[in-house]
Amino acid sequence: MSAGMTRTKLDDGVWPAGIEPAQRLERPEAIAWDDEADVIVVGYGGAGVIAALEAAAAGLSVLALDRYGGGGATRINGGVYYAGGGTRIQVEAGVTDSVQDMFDYLSLETQGVVTAPTLRRFCQDSAANLDWLAANGVPFNARLYAKKTSYPPSDYYLYHSDSSLAGRYAEKTPPAARGHRVFMPAANRADGYGAGFYDPLRATARERGVRDWNHAQVQQLIQDGQGRVVGVKALRIAPDLPQAAEHQALLAAAHKWQAVPAGFPGGKWAAAKAEKLLAKAAVLKATHARPLRLRARHGVVLSAGGFVYNRAMIQRHAPKYLAGMPLGTPGDDGAGIALGVSAGGAMTGMERMSAWRFINPPQAWARGMIVDASGARYVDETLYGAAIGQEMCERHGGKAYLILDQALYRQAWKDVSQKGVLPFQKYPAMLVMALGRKKAATLPALAARCGFDAEIFAEAAAAYNRLADGAQVDQFGKRASDAGSVRQGPYYALDMSVDAPLAPLPTLTLGGLSVDEVSGQVRDEAGRGIEGLYAAGRTALGVCSNLYVSGLAVADCVFSGRRAGAAIADRAGRARSLAPVAGSG
Ligand SMILES: Cc1cc2nc3c(=O)[nH]c(=O)nc-3n(C[C@H](O)[C@H](O)[C@H](O)COP(=O)(O)OP(=O)(O)OC[C@H]3O[C@@H](n4cnc5c(N)ncnc54)[C@H](O)[C@@H]3O)c2cc1C
Repeated sequence: MSAGMTRTKLDDGVWPAGIEPAQRLERPEAIAWDDEADVIVVGYGGAGVIAALEAAAAGLSVLALDRYGGGGATRINGGVYYAGGGTRIQVEAGVTDSVQDMFDYLSLETQGVVTAPTLRRFCQDSAANLDWLAANGVPFNARLYAKKTSYPPSDYYLYHSDSSLAGRYAEKTPPAARGHRVFMPAANRADGYGAGFYDPLRATARERGVRDWNHAQVQQLIQDGQGRVVGVKALRIAPDLPQAAEHQALLAAAHKWQAVPAGFPGGKWAAAKAEKLLAKAAVLKATHARPLRLRARHGVVLSAGGFVYNRAMIQRHAPKYLAGMPLGTPGDDGAGIALGVSAGGAMTGMERMSAWRFINPPQAWARGMIVDASGARYVDETLYGAAIGQEMCERHGGKAYLILDQALYRQAWKDVSQKGVLPFQKYPAMLVMALGRKKAATLPALAARCGFDAEIFAEAAAAYNRLADGAQVDQFGKRASDAGSVRQGPYYALDMSVDAPLAPLPTLTLGGLSVDEVSGQVRDEAGRGIEGLYAAGRTALGVCSNLYVSGLAVADCVFSGRRAGAAIADRAGRARSLAPVAGSG
């Protein structure tokens, strides 16, 4: 056996710690592997569990590895799944939708980030994928919330989770509610829905024989002499050692502290506390974890999330979003992408991020006007929050000030006090209105306080008032009925910028490995597939990688996870018909 290293672009200072260049083995069958399976899944969150289920359903053995407890961002998310084209939930709710309408709407959002045939397949498969999820244990419900909102109140499970109700979009495609939130009766919060999506899938996967290992961190890919990916090296503390539980507890505590926004009171202290706990966990791992070489007979799926927790990578690829708040888990450190690159994979869309500036509820906020640092208005405030965040970060220097007059400001307080507004919507809004505002008796005085250009701001306010009066068509497409006027002092400016200390801007990465859109196989820079290597979810470029709307990330995990699992099964079937594979993992 001759072993050697493939030097790749992994040594440029931004990659996550611990990822090693891929190892090349001329005769992989000659080494002693610690374990094996037909398919190895690297990262057992949303895309990982879907790929595992699909491969297992085709009769393949699957070993799924996660560096933490599994679930990833999927398990802590809002549980919204984007689906349409006439799902059985839409039909039950009386919502009219078609594959063509869904395709037309998503074509506006995705702007060619995947090819039209791929987007069409995504839409065609959508209703069937929802049925597949339901058959694998995910509960949905048809109670419809028909008004605009960034997230529906408790007890509503189908809503417009995108910009389809906003003027410009509604003119082009008929709006249809496509945000399917996982059914979880009587929960007055946003967390927990993600677990309602992930946990049943993981349980079903176990029933189907998928083996899942927690606290197994993949650090290296192993290739054969021809470059085919044939396995991985993972670092794992054996689960029966007491240090495994200790390690897990330290990480769980650290992650809680890491979730405190840096700009909040105590944010720096929380970050320091997290660092200490992580350092302790690292010592435990260095002392007790053992490297394991795990063979994948038919394929490796990289589904290890994105890179929003790797600030050096954000600085390198998407610096406009650096001041934003990472939304995900510390597992989003770019490891999956790095592993793909180590085997020759190419990256794409790495500059794309989603930045969530949700301003409804309170509904009165969306009736106000947003201006940039010069005082100029630039967006339809009723758009989905990620569309507002994108305009702000991409074209307006990351600056947004929400302008309200006295009537809108008072109404906003009433809105957030209403029943049905969830705590994660209510308290941040109250905090900004109480402590993150600038106030002045007149518009020129407000312009002076905020440093706007007085003339530009005065013209923006005058035009906005004409829009509210129905006397002018909005250049950004906002309907007159959606606009409140700003003509009654005192006036307020709420800082909504990317770096607003009291209104942290949640951000997640959308770019990743370049993959073949039919199979999910990772591609190199010349567009050639890397044998044995697949990617799914936020480790790869996908349907949601231009502009995320709620539910589209998870919908892409389902689409791309199933695609990878099925492609490996398909290839394995063909390989088996040539030569039976001995043993099963
Ligand atoms: C608070 C919040 C709310 C959100 N709400 C929604 C929503 O309602 N709808 C929606 O569509 N999207 C939502 N998103 C976004 C969405 O959840 C994610 O984009 C998506 O779940 C990512 O799925 P994934 O499978 O790519 O990664 P994940 O689900 O994060 O899974 C990746 C897994 O890989 C593991 N891993 C990482 N590195 C390694 C390694 N080296 N070895 C082994 N394992 C590794 C991680 O521990 C993790 O478990 C939300 C995100 C957050 C954080």
